[in-house]
Amino acid sequence: MKKALIIVDVQNDFCEGGALAVPGANEIIPYINLLMQDNEYDQIVLTQDWHPANHKSFASNNGKKVGDNIILNGIPQFMWPDHCVQGTFGAEFHPDLNRDKVTHIIQKGTNTDFDSYSGFQDNNHFMKTGLDDFLKYHDIQLLEIVGLALDYCVKFTCLDAAQLGYVTCLHFNGTRGVNVKPDSAKNAIYEMLQNTVTILG
Ligand SMILES: [Zn+2]
Repeated sequence: MKKALIIVDVQNDFCEGGALAVPGANEIIPYINLLMQDNEYDQIVLTQDWHPANHKSFASNNGKKVGDNIILNGIPQFMWPDHCVQGTFGAEFHPDLNRDKVTHIIQKGTNTDFDSYSGFQDNNHFMKTGLDDFLKYHDIQLLEIVGLALDYCVKFTCLDAAQLGYVTCLHFNGTRGVNVKPDSAKNAIYEMLQNTVTILG
């Protein structure tokens, strides 16, 4: 069975000192580097949150406060601080992440009007990113998933992966939750378990 490692959004803005820092984010980077060193993955894919500066997921672009909720294209949208703006330092991958064996990069959130938590598609399920096509083209059947943040982009990437028919495993030590809402990371784990995602300790 061919397998791929999917590394979700390990970018400066989600790490220590970043605009949308996930607590403990930097701790997962050595773990991910070891996974790449100790395993033979057929493909290693990075996802990269890659927003235009006027992106609608930013509170600043809607006259809202960070943490507010709006309805965007008919679905709830949490208001984030400006983050991962195309071409900025915050959008770059963390320099400690070893990228020697990376075979592909998927950028998401590039359309001003749509947020994209999943690495596979935007939150409205309007546009696909090309990740599924890439993996199917390379005959990948098993996905191991790590990255940031557990309760948003990692969760939705895992749920879509399982839905699309991949054997889907989340490395618990390779992810951290942002927990902007109480128990959000814990609930994300329950939701993934209910949807055939395997959690590897
Ligand atoms: Zn984003």
